[in-house]
Amino acid sequence: MSVDFFATPLQFLKGVGPRKAADLTRAGLVLVEDLLYRLPFRYEDRSRMQPIATLRAGAKAAVLGEIKSANLTLTRRRGFKIFHAIVGDRSGAIRCTWMNQAFLADILKPHLQVVIFGDVKLDSTGLHFMNPEYELVSDDLSAVHTGRVVPFYEKTGMVTPNMQRRLVRQTLDQLPPEIPDVLPPELRARLSLVSRRQAVEESHFPGNDASVDLLNAFRSPAQRRLIFEEFFLFQIGHAWRRHASSIELKPYVPVVDDRVRASAASVLPFKLTPGQRQATKEIVDDMIAREPMHRLLQGDVGAGKTIVALLAAIVAIENGLQVAFMAPTEILAGQHYNNIARVLARSRFRVDLLTGSTPGLQKHTILASIERGSTHLIVGTHALVQEQVTFHRLGLVVIDEQHRFGVAQRAALRAKGLRPDVLLMTATPIPRTLALTDYSELDVSKITDLPPGRHPVKTLVKPESRRDEIYDLIRQQLDAGRQAYIIYPLVEESEKIDLRSATEMADHLQAEVFPAYRVALLHGRMKQDAKDQVMQAFAAGRIHLLVSTTVVEVGVDVPNASVMVVEHAERFGLSQLHQLRGRVGRGPWESYCILLYQAPWTDDARERLRAMSSTTDGFVIAERDLELRGPGDFFGTRQSGVPVLRTGDLIRDRDIMEEAHREARRIVDNGGLTPELTSFVKSKWQQQFGLIEVG
Ligand code: ADP
Ligand code: MG
Repeated sequence: MSVDFFATPLQFLKGVGPRKAADLTRAGLVLVEDLLYRLPFRYEDRSRMQPIATLRAGAKAAVLGEIKSANLTLTRRRGFKIFHAIVGDRSGAIRCTWMNQAFLADILKPHLQVVIFGDVKLDSTGLHFMNPEYELVSDDLSAVHTGRVVPFYEKTGMVTPNMQRRLVRQTLDQLPPEIPDVLPPELRARLSLVSRRQAVEESHFPGNDASVDLLNAFRSPAQRRLIFEEFFLFQIGHAWRRHASSIELKPYVPVVDDRVRASAASVLPFKLTPGQRQATKEIVDDMIAREPMHRLLQGDVGAGKTIVALLAAIVAIENGLQVAFMAPTEILAGQHYNNIARVLARSRFRVDLLTGSTPGLQKHTILASIERGSTHLIVGTHALVQEQVTFHRLGLVVIDEQHRFGVAQRAALRAKGLRPDVLLMTATPIPRTLALTDYSELDVSKITDLPPGRHPVKTLVKPESRRDEIYDLIRQQLDAGRQAYIIYPLVEESEKIDLRSATEMADHLQAEVFPAYRVALLHGRMKQDAKDQVMQAFAAGRIHLLVSTTVVEVGVDVPNASVMVVEHAERFGLSQLHQLRGRVGRGPWESYCILLYQAPWTDDARERLRAMSSTTDGFVIAERDLELRGPGDFFGTRQSGVPVLRTGDLIRDRDIMEEAHREARRIVDNGGLTPELTSFVKSKWQQQFGLIEVG
């Protein structure tokens, strides 16, 4: 096989000297591939030539004519030169003016045919083009810059857009007749994807019948093919890894028969929602398969994920397997333990709780019980991944709020079993596009409905100047026996930022606003014990009003709380606000989320607060958040598997990512990997997209 043209260093191309090659390298353009896969960001139709007599000021126009006269004038300012040319066609003539481009005098000479493109201006001297683009019709690269649909590139470093346009044209002209195409022909045919050759050609230089609107929406057949290719190659790597891990079959495969079904039904405290039923079915189908499960269960706060996990646990336990249920904080682990123990009270299953604060003696007993296999279900914090914990036969690992654990912790827990089924849970709705990149190897189940009897939380957006009304509302709620949260973005007043400190505020609220009720403060710098104490007192109803920084964000369940006030709501991210709102509306009462903002707010902040008041659907909010913040920021500082993309855009092209994900899995699962794809995965995947760890 001949050398891959796309892997040719640009410096070997005709017309690229060492100097230019250095500029290109600095702009990240080293190989032909780098150049051809850096797509124009915009296209303009310069194919229609306008008669000069019809030109109007203020519009962009392209004209074709002859240079009637040309002259270079010097201004009084030293060295400042103006070049004028009069260009005429049959309908008329127009003046073209270029500032400080004296060299044009040697190019744009009288009697030559030229295409001029640019903005038509009008001033006291009449209609003219100012600094237009030009193209001599005799130029051997004719119609690169004008007379067609023309590509526009971002300027990078010393590489100007025009230079790139010329270079791309030159490079395309040297494309060998046969270029390798990594996409299997069967796939291309089925999805109507154009060939790679056509795709690179027409993504840069579309035919004149191409739709500029389609091009600017990045949906021309040529662009779609290149974006698909990029996403598909990314997804192939994931699909491959997923496939590789599924080859390692489970030593114990649960069965579900009438006995197991009856056991699950007997503990069920309520009727499942359709969403819960569907998720349970998907999980159980995975469990009875021979390949280990890797599933992510997504559902908004309060959607009822716990019972779904518990039903999966019963399937495992009834099959003689143990279950580990890990939660990120002691409070959450304790809450899960209490709920699960209550639901399983009448069963013969033994449930234990293991956290960092489990007393030594008790811990000893529990560890022995886990090792013996007498503990069927162990709930805990990351204490579960410690060395001393040995299972008898761990068959199912459930990880709640999975994003709060590191890859290593999740892997360590999994390693305590023999290829156990893994169920990850999250209440942070992950936009579909990100689920397809970050969690591409996982199967995803979603619960999108809520248990019956929930009132959607009423959301009010108010300027903080109207806080007295809000206090009245809180007072009414407290008088009715409810509890409330007030959330602050920071703990202490910062010198620079005008922030009401949570501490001062708590004192003020207690002493002056709600003297009849108990107010307490919770913040991130408190010791864990102290936090737990406050949280427990609030959960038990001994504290009525909890003033807090965002530590209440995760998982806490206090159904009696009916008001959530967020101070400086303009400073919070959308997903964060959604999480906070999820703390209320968990009981049978009407609940309120009040977003207090302080002017001036940014457009983004206004958008966020508007989104909050217009929907309570976490998935809609997550998509909106992704749009507002962009994929890079979405997960904050967490290391994320969002790939660096050349042609595609995770937000604009989510439909294409979806398709690529489906097709990659299909090909890998059906053993349809071609030698080209296999070698791509083996040699280039890591280098191109980096390492992504999941599960
Ligand atoms: P999350 O998805 O946030 O973890 P939970 O599992 O904690 O939600 O459930 C929230 C509350 O809703 C719990 O008190 C639970 O008992 C209750 N719940 C869950 N599913 C149902 C249902 N189908 N019908 C009635 N109540 C339910
Ligand atoms: Mg939960």
